[in-house]
Order: sequence, then structure tokens, then C-alpha cells
Amino acid sequence: MTSSFSNLSLAEPLARAVAEMGYETMTPIQEQAIPVVLQGKDVMGAAQTGTGKTAAFALPLLQRMMKHENASTSPARHPVRALVLLPTRELADQVAEQVRLYAKYTNLRSTVVFGGMDMKPQTLELKKGVEVLVATPGRLLDHIEAKNAVLNQVEYVVLDEADRMLDIGFLPDLQRILSYLPKQRITLLFSATFSPEIKRLASSYLQDPVTIEVARSNATASTVEQHFYAVNADDKRRALHQVLKSRGMKQAFVFVNSKLGCARLARSLEREGLKTTALHGDKSQDERLKALEAFKSGEVDLLVCTDVAARGLDIKDVPAVFNFDVPFNAEDYVHRIGRTGRAGASGLAVSFVASSDQRLVADIEKLIKTKIDLEPLEFEEDRPRAPGGAGDQGGNNDGRRMYREGAEGEHRERPERRERREHLPHRQAAAPRDPFFDQPYEVNAAPGTAPAWEADTKSASSRSGISSNIKPKKKVAALFKTPS
Ligand code: AMP
Repeated sequence: MTSSFSNLSLAEPLARAVAEMGYETMTPIQEQAIPVVLQGKDVMGAAQTGTGKTAAFALPLLQRMMKHENASTSPARHPVRALVLLPTRELADQVAEQVRLYAKYTNLRSTVVFGGMDMKPQTLELKKGVEVLVATPGRLLDHIEAKNAVLNQVEYVVLDEADRMLDIGFLPDLQRILSYLPKQRITLLFSATFSPEIKRLASSYLQDPVTIEVARSNATASTVEQHFYAVNADDKRRALHQVLKSRGMKQAFVFVNSKLGCARLARSLEREGLKTTALHGDKSQDERLKALEAFKSGEVDLLVCTDVAARGLDIKDVPAVFNFDVPFNAEDYVHRIGRTGRAGASGLAVSFVASSDQRLVADIEKLIKTKIDLEPLEFEEDRPRAPGGAGDQGGNNDGRRMYREGAEGEHRERPERRERREHLPHRQAAAPRDPFFDQPYEVNAAPGTAPAWEADTKSASSRSGISSNIKPKKKVAALFKTPS
């Protein structure tokens, strides 16, 4: 059963903002979390970006803070009462933008601070006084040290994407930040998974939390055509060229597992004539924005990225996602391929599997509860001119060399099977169906209308992909076509 926001008795300014954003029914995480947060309980929530998680914590927190709402211009009347911590600049910025929209008809103020940008404008905002502070841990500590942020009146803390924060190594920073906060507070923790580390974090900082999990997290959209090709590690670049060419694809995300690998691969692909940019955690904010905008404008065709850098990126409908490296974490596979085939559009997800990756593929198989067939990849340039030539792999009577790795017999494809597949437009993964995943938030949408999160309700700046919080430097601004 989906319930409406009108059942929540939100304060009028919040209800108005929600209505203006076009939300009608609550998403599962909202249905479950909002009443619990309204009651003032700690929450441990398993939910990912895209589930409506931000509203699930922001709306009840704003509702609870309404009692402090005042129109005074004095900074002292607007102390930080809610602190939202996120692992990356992009995520922090996106969450802050949503909080701003939900609070726009109230006198509650919000701002965002993250690294890679000048501290001065952030300092000015903090000094004016804000009730909701969205931050990445490192930059927040800088502001605490500079005495720009006073956190002794914080009543609510949200640790969002907590698993990512731990992955990045933010635990010591989090511990320090939490040590500055009043003990008496409400703490909400959201994470894609409840790993032992997350559970430890929760047991240290949460009090009798209510656990909330939304079912969709490990499903893959049925609109995504998934392929797993058995490829020698050294031939992956060649395989990428081959698939792009044979599919007539121009743009794609290419995922790798390390920053170093990311930079290297981007350089190699660029040398091989593909317009490529790398997106990884060491890139400055300006560089990341520049890369994203270049991709959106079509100036760049391939965005080679790491999971951390790509998490939360506001890019929808990427035609194809390549797992150049099979992710170490099966959940990352779901995140990665979630960039394509969104909102009913069809997408392509291609994973290149070296023999050492078989265990990782088995993990993915378990997680998405779908049998994965490793397919051979056949390279055009390997096709011999005459049947039975040098490339013949005895058993392929058409003389084409089947590309495979590891246990040969396992990956050799019977010609009749290949033939069958070639007649299919594409192979759809028979992922377990969760209607929410397949059609998120579209329940009340008229056929053909854009889903709420893509509707044209965003500000002009967020439509262009750049939030008003991110002021690019001049050179970059010219590229974005926004005033600097
Ligand atoms: P989030 O998971 O918080 O990043 O939200 C993903 C997108 O869904 C955002 O663009 C939200 O504005 C949108 N959204 C959140 N809740 C709802 C809802 N109940 N109905 C429609 N759209 C929503």
C-alpha cells in the first residue's frame, strides 16, 4: 500500500513544497522512515540514492525543527540543529539542494560545505546562521577548527551513505565530528549495506535504532541488457572498442576499480582515438564538473570512473555502462548498471570478465539472483579471410575465433546457441521483479509523462547539472554557459 503525503500532517510550508515538487505518494523508504523519525527514534536505514531517501529523513527533521522556526536576522537565532554528513561533494550538493527545496517556504535555513572549493563563501553562509548543515567530513572539520561552525546545539545527525564514508576512510573524521556533538540527539544512519563495520558504527553512535530496509536495493532494472564477456585482461581495451563499434554506441561510462587504473585507462583510450575523461576521487571539484558537463554536452564520449567518483552523479540515461573491471563489491555492480536503462529507457551493461574475476561474478550472480552466462567475444580483426584459417579454433566450423579465457571448454559457445542468441534483439536479464524498482515514482504519472525526478521542476542551475552552490571558475564557467 502506498500512502500519500497528505496523511502525514506536515506543516503547511513543507506540505506546499512537497506538492510543488510533484510528489504524491511516498516511496517505501519514506513510508517506513518518516513516521519513525517524527517520533524521534534513531534509524538505521538500508537505502540507496534514488529511493527517495533524502526526503525520508529531511522532511521529518524539518517538521520537527519547525518549532524553532523564526524570522530573526540574528545568527544566534539560527544555530545548526541538523547535521547531514555525506561522502562526496556531489552527493552533499544534491542533498543540500533537495533540503533547500523542501524548506523553501519556511524560515529554516540550510547550507552545504564541501572540499575543493574556496572556504570563504561557505564561511559567510555559516556565520549568517543555518539550521541544517550538509557537509562532507573533511571540510566540516576545517570549518570546526576555524570556529566557523558551532555544533553544540545539534539535535539531529544524519550519516548518509555511511558505507561509502567508511570505504573512503572517513571513520576517524566521523568520530571526531561526533565527539563535538551533544550526546542527547537523534542519529540516523543510511547505508547501502549493513556490513559488520556499519553495524559497529551504529552500535557506537545510535541508541535502540529502528532498522528499516527497502527491498529494491539489489535488483537490476529489467530494461538493462546485461552481458558478461570472457576476456583476457590484456584484451579488455580491444574488447571495449569492439563492443562500441559493433553496437554503434558513442557514449558510455566505463567503470574501473582503482584511481590509478582509471587515469591509465583514460589516457590509453584517449591515445587510441576515443574522446575520454577520467573521473576519480583525486580530481578537483572543478575537474569533476568539467568532466561531467563535457560528457553531457557530448564533447566527451567515454567517462572512465571509479565507484566513489560516480556515486550520486546526476547523469541519467547513459546509453551503456562498461565494467572494465568487475567490481569487488557485488552491490557496486547494481549501482553501476543503474546508470543506464533508467525510467523505462533501455540500456546496455557490459562486463569484461578475466579468469581471476570469476569469484566476483559469482557474487553478483548471488546478489541479483540471476544466472550469469559468460559469453565469448569475437574480435572482428581476428576473423580469418577464408574459413579454416589461422584463427580457427577447431569446433567452430565457421572458422571464427571464439574469444575466451580460463577454462576454455566452459566458455566455448556452441554455434547453434550463438545463432539463437544472434536472432534475439537482446538478452534481458531475468532479474527478480520489484515493481518499485522498475517504475519508481511513476505510479500516478500519466502515460508518457516524465517521472517526477526528471520533471522540469528543478532550478535552471540544477537542470544544467550544476547546482547554484557550485561556482565554477571562469574557464569552466564558459564551458557550462552559466555566469561565473
Ligand atoms: P533520493 O533518493 O533522495 O536521491 O531521491 C531521488 C529522486 O526522487 C529525487 O529527485 C527526488 O526529488 C525524487 N523523489 C523523492 N521522493 C519522491 C516521491 N515521493 N515522489 C516522487 N519523487 C520523489
